[in-house]
Amino acid sequence: MRVPASALALLFACGSPSEPARSNLVVIVVDTLRADHLGLHGYERDTSPFLDEIAQQGMVFENAQSVSSFTRESVSALLTGYLPSTSGSIGWYATPPEHLPTLGTSYAQEGYRTGFFTTTLMLPDPAYARGFESVEHLVKKGGVSGKGQALSERALEFVRECGDDPFMMYLHYFDPHGPYDPPEELMLRYTDEIHPDPVGLYTQLRKRVPEYVSKGFGPGDPLFEDQQVRYDAEITWTDQALKSLFDGLTAQGVADNTLVVITSDHGEEFLEHGFVEHAWTLYQEVLHVPLIFWWPGTLEPSRIPERVSLVDVLPTVQQLQGIESTEPSDGHRLIDPQGRPLTERTPTLSELLIQHRNVLRSVTVGPWKYIQTRKWLNLRQRTELVRNERKHEQAALKVDFDPWGPVVREELYNLTDDPRETQNLKKSKPELLEQLQAVMQLFEKRARETSPEQGGRGEAPELDEAMLEALKAIGY
Ligand SMILES: [Zn+2]
Repeated sequence: MRVPASALALLFACGSPSEPARSNLVVIVVDTLRADHLGLHGYERDTSPFLDEIAQQGMVFENAQSVSSFTRESVSALLTGYLPSTSGSIGWYATPPEHLPTLGTSYAQEGYRTGFFTTTLMLPDPAYARGFESVEHLVKKGGVSGKGQALSERALEFVRECGDDPFMMYLHYFDPHGPYDPPEELMLRYTDEIHPDPVGLYTQLRKRVPEYVSKGFGPGDPLFEDQQVRYDAEITWTDQALKSLFDGLTAQGVADNTLVVITSDHGEEFLEHGFVEHAWTLYQEVLHVPLIFWWPGTLEPSRIPERVSLVDVLPTVQQLQGIESTEPSDGHRLIDPQGRPLTERTPTLSELLIQHRNVLRSVTVGPWKYIQTRKWLNLRQRTELVRNERKHEQAALKVDFDPWGPVVREELYNLTDDPRETQNLKKSKPELLEQLQAVMQLFEKRARETSPEQGGRGEAPELDEAMLEALKAIGY
C-alpha cells in the first residue's frame, strides 16, 4: 500500500530533479467550529468570507466528523491517527500516548522544522508538542480571547526563521470557544443592536440551563439570539486572522509549496439537545466539523460528500507528502498520491469518555448513526456538576473507571431523514440495532487488544473488514 517517500518527493518536486523541494504543511484547528455556521456549508450569515474563498480553491470534505466533542481527546486523535479507546488517550486529561508516533515526531524525523503554536489553555502537556522544536501557547501573555491575529503573526515569524528549510506547523485557534466576547464591530454585522445584558456562558448560563429555558431562553429569544451573534462574530474574527496567515505565506513566497489543512476539534451545542457548550454529547452539532485540504496546483478543487473522520488527517497528509508512517492507524488515506480523493465507505466512530461527565460512543454507517452510552447525566445533573467542576477536575487526574462498563442508553438515528437527531429509531429497527451493536463489540475487541496495557500494538483485528462484514446484513 505504501508508496516510497522518494517516489512521492519526485512527484511533487518543484525544484530541480536532483534536489526536489519538500513541500510544507500547516495543520490549522479552529477550536469549537461548527461546520454548519460557515458560508461554505450553506450558513445564512456571511461568517467566513475568507474560508469560503479558500474552500473554493481546495478539497472540501463536506461530512467530516470529529473523533470526540472534547478538545483533548479530539486533538490526541488528530495527532496520532488513533481513536481514544485504541490509543488509551481518554478522559479529561487525555494526551497523545508515549508509545505512538505523532504528527510532530513523524515530520521531525524526516528533517522538517516543526512549530506548535496555540491560543488555548487545554494543550499545555508536552505530550501534545512531542516532535515539535518550537512550541508556544500564546495564552500566557494575557487571557485566551482575541489572540488569533497574534497566533498568525507568530506562525509567520516561524516560517521566516525556517528560511529555505521545509516546515510543518500545528496552529490551534481558539476564539469561537466560549466565553463569546468578540469585538462589537463584528457583532454589528449580524445584529442591529447589541444586547445590553448578555448572559455569560460559563459564569451564568451553563450553571442554570433548565432555569433559563423555562424563562424562554431559546430560538427567537433575544438573549439566545445574542449568543448566536457572539459565536458567529468569533468565527468571523478567526476568519480574519486566517486571512492574515495566508497573506503572509503568500508574501513570503511559500504558499504554493504548502499543504494547508483546516478543521476543528468539535462543534458547539445551542440547545439542540437541551444543553449548551460541548463535551457532553455526540450529536451532530458537536461532531460535524469543517475539513479542507488546500494545495492549489496539486489538489483539484472539489467537494466530497462521503463521511470521513479527524483520524484520517494524519495518514492523508503523510501519504501526500511522502512522510514515512511507521504504524497503521485507525484512519484512512483520503487522497491518493496523484491528488485524487479516495472515497471508500467505512464506519465512522466517535467517542466521549469523560468519567465525571458522560461516557458514550457513536458509529455512523451510511445514513445510520448509533449512539451507545455508558454514563449519562441529565440536564439538571450537568448544571449541578459544573457548579463545582474544579473538584471533579482534580478527581479526573486519575482515570479509574471502566470505559466499557454496562450500557445505560442506546439511540439510533437516520441522519438523512432526521439530521437533527430527534427520532430515536431503536425500537422500530431492531435488526439494524443489533448489527450496529455488533460493530461496537468489534471495536471494543480491537480497543482492548491495542490498549497500552496490552503492550500497545498487538494483533488488532482488522476493524474495517470485520465491520463491513457485519454490516452486509443490513444492506451495506
Ligand atoms: Zn475544543
